[in-house]
Amino acid sequence: MPKQSPNVVIVGAGIIGAASAYYLAKAGSKVAVLDESNSRNSATLASFGWINSHNPDNANYFRLRMESQKLWRALSADYPDLPIQFPGSIDWDMDASSIDAEFNKYRQLDYECELVGRSQIENLSPHLKSPPELAIHKFDEGTADPQRIARAFIVLAKEHGAKFHDNTKVQAVEIGTNDKWKVLATEETFRADALLLCAGIKTPTLLRELGIRLPTDNKHGLLVSTSPLDIRIDKIISAPDFHFWQRTDGTLLAGRNQAGDMDSQSTDALLSSLTEKLSRYVPNGSKLEFDKVIKGTRPVPLDGMPVVGQIPMLGNLYVAMMHSGITLAPLIGSSLAFEIMSQSPNENLKPFCISRFNQHEKQSALGAKREMSA
Ligand SMILES: Cc1cc2nc3c(=O)[nH]c(=O)nc-3n(C[C@H](O)[C@H](O)[C@H](O)COP(=O)(O)OP(=O)(O)OC[C@H]3O[C@@H](n4cnc5c(N)ncnc54)[C@H](O)[C@@H]3O)c2cc1C
Repeated sequence: MPKQSPNVVIVGAGIIGAASAYYLAKAGSKVAVLDESNSRNSATLASFGWINSHNPDNANYFRLRMESQKLWRALSADYPDLPIQFPGSIDWDMDASSIDAEFNKYRQLDYECELVGRSQIENLSPHLKSPPELAIHKFDEGTADPQRIARAFIVLAKEHGAKFHDNTKVQAVEIGTNDKWKVLATEETFRADALLLCAGIKTPTLLRELGIRLPTDNKHGLLVSTSPLDIRIDKIISAPDFHFWQRTDGTLLAGRNQAGDMDSQSTDALLSSLTEKLSRYVPNGSKLEFDKVIKGTRPVPLDGMPVVGQIPMLGNLYVAMMHSGITLAPLIGSSLAFEIMSQSPNENLKPFCISRFNQHEKQSALGAKREMSA
C-alpha cells in the first residue's frame, strides 16, 4: 500500500465513518466515503448524543472513552462552530446506596467529578424539579447534536479533499488484484488500497461474505424531542432510568436507559413513561409536546465492547462497529487513521480487535482471501 497517500474507501457516513474520513484526509489519504443514505440504518441520526465515560468497571473501555472526551474538547477549541457543548452532567441513575461506591470508582480512574448534595444541585441547575439528595456531578461531559455532528465531520473531511457519495449502497466487497479492494456499489465499482467498514448495524452483513463473524446484541431505542422550554436546564440530567438535555433552541432531547428500552416495552408505554418523567423533573413538563419521536438501533457487538481496527489475515481491511460511537468518534477516527497510514497496529485498539470473535475462523478468512484473489 502506498504510504504517503493511500486510497481509502469508507463504507458508512455515520459519526464513525465521518470522523475517520476527516482524520484520514487530514493525514494525506485519498478518501471516498460511500453511504446508502437510508436513515433507518443510521444510529447517529437516532442518538442521544451524550459524550461521557461510563462503565468504570472496564478500565480499558473507560480509558478509551476518557481519551476521546479530551479529543472532543480539543476539536471544539479548534472548530468552535462544531455542534457540541460541555455543560457537564448530574447523575443519580443508580441505587441510592451505591452512589458513594460508584463515585469512588470514577475518582480512582481520575474522572473529573464530585459528589453533590441537594443544595449544590439546586445551584448547578436551579430549574431542575425534584433534585435528588445526592448525585455525582461529572464536570467534563458533553453533548453532540446527533442530527448535525456527522455532517460537520464530512464538511471538514471535504475541506481536506475527501469525496462523499450519498445514495450509494455497497452490495459487496471483494479483494482483487495486488491486494486492492473492490467495492461493488449501486452504480459504480470503487477500488481501494485500504477499506474501512463503518456501516453500523449493517457491518456484520458485509463481513459475513468474507467469512468473518461479528456477533451482535443490537438494542432498539426511542427518544423524544420536545417543544421548546422557556427556561434553561443547565446540565445533562441522568435521573433513574431517564435522561435528558436541552438544546440551544430550548427543545429537550429525552430518553430511557439502554437496558431494556424498546425491546421490552411498547412505543405507547415508553411515550407515556417519558411524559411522566418529564413532568417529574421539568417545570411545566406535562405541557411539553413531543415534536418528534425518534426510533433507532444501537450497533452493539455481542460483548458490548467496540469492535475496531485491522482484521487479522485480511490485510488492509479495517472495521469499526460500536455503541457509544458519539463519545468515541474522535478517538476511533484518529486511531484508525494512524493505523491505516502507518500500517502498524495501534496499541489503544488491541483489546477491541475482532479476532476475539474469530479465534477459530482465522484460517477460513485466509482461505476466503486466497479464493477471492485467485
Ligand atoms: C437511541 C440511541 C441513543 C444513543 N445514545 C448515545 C449516547 O448518548 N452517546 C453515545 O456515545 N452513543 C449513543 N448511541 C450510539 C451511537 O449513536 C452509535 O454508536 C453511533 O451513532 C454509531 O455510529 P456509526 O457511524 O458506527 O454507525 P451509523 O451511525 O449507524 O452509520 C452507519 C452508516 O452506514 C450506512 N450504511 C449501512 N449499510 C450500508 C451499505 N451497505 N452501503 C452504504 N452505506 C451503508 C448507513 O446509511 C449509515 O449512515 C445511541 C444510539 C441510539 C440508537
